[in-house]
Amino acid sequence: SEFVKEEFSRGALRSKTVEDILTPLKDCFMLPSSAVLDFSTMSEIMQSGYTRVPIYEEERSNIVEILYVKDLALVDPDDCTPMTTITKFYNHPLHFVFNDTKLDAMLEEFKKGNSALAIVQKVNNEGEGDPFYEVLGLVTLEDVIEEIIKSE
Ligand code: ATP
Ligand code: ATP
Repeated sequence: SEFVKEEFSRGALRSKTVEDILTPLKDCFMLPSSAVLDFSTMSEIMQSGYTRVPIYEEERSNIVEILYVKDLALVDPDDCTPMTTITKFYNHPLHFVFNDTKLDAMLEEFKKGNSALAIVQKVNNEGEGDPFYEVLGLVTLEDVIEEIIKSE
């Protein structure tokens, strides 16, 4: 019945976490902050097809900014603009969430409209050293919506 279906999808949203649905870091299209916005980099971004590109420093696990494809509208590839010139100018906020965030809570976060993409991290306290934040991947509103549709 409709009631059962609705309860099921609510249940899935309540019980599943962002870790269950994220795009793993290894599959994320990202660029280093040292990149230069020349023709080749700009083509690569366009060909990726993604709207938001995390920018990392030194290591892929160290995401420091986010580039929106629309930020490139006024960039001339012939100028070879450094990536950081653009990311510092637009300075879009980075949104981090923990791996155990439930999908209903994530949906509420996205609905607040801060951003439609969040970087998922967990506290890694395996091993000898101090605990540290480990980036697992990214999750977008689209991932949550897909989960809702799947469970209907
Ligand atoms: P939009 O639909 O707003 O244009 P988009 O197509 O770039 O954005 P989404 O629709 O938000 O991205 O997400 C589609 C899928 O792509 C989701 O599974 C999401 O996790 C994934 N995704 C989004 N950005 C990236 C990225 N930079 N690298 C890899 N996967 C990404
Ligand atoms: P401390 O307070 O111990 O100096 P901190 O200021 O680096 O640590 P917290 O105060 O624990 O960090 O967290 C503040 C916010 O920043 C939290 O939302 C956390 O998720 C985020 N955060 C902190 N460090 C990182 C990091 N290296 N990568 C991603 N997010 C981080």
